Amino acid sequence: MFKFIKKADIVLFFVLLAFGIGLSALSLFTGTSGQKVQIEVNGQPYAVYSLAENQTIEITEHGHTNKITIKDGAVQMSYSDCKNQICVNDGQISKTNQSIVCLPNKVMVEITGGEEEFDAISN
Ligand SMILES: [Zn+2]
Repeated sequence: MFKFIKKADIVLFFVLLAFGIGLSALSLFTGTSGQKVQIEVNGQPYAVYSLAENQTIEITEHGHTNKITIKDGAVQMSYSDCKNQICVNDGQISKTNQSIVCLPNKVMVEITGGEEEFDAISN
């Protein structure tokens, strides 16, 4: 169990380090281990990603495309082909329970997890 936690900490530290000294220092204090980016499409769970991993996720469903970018512990809808662009204009979210919703394309991005989940793992 201790081995697992230690390894996870090292991986997290390495990932944060790669983001840049300033941001990583900030993330270590404000970011919570185990935060996840949960994506729902059409009211159904679509995928879950780690908030600690920089990546861009492209979702193409029902002829619509949305791109979600995870960067430096924050998430944003970087592209959407919806008409109102509200989701794109929402900008970044980085805290648990914050969400971005694209109503026209029925795509929802929510940050979940955090300390509670981390405790559950360590128990
Ligand atoms: Zn939208």
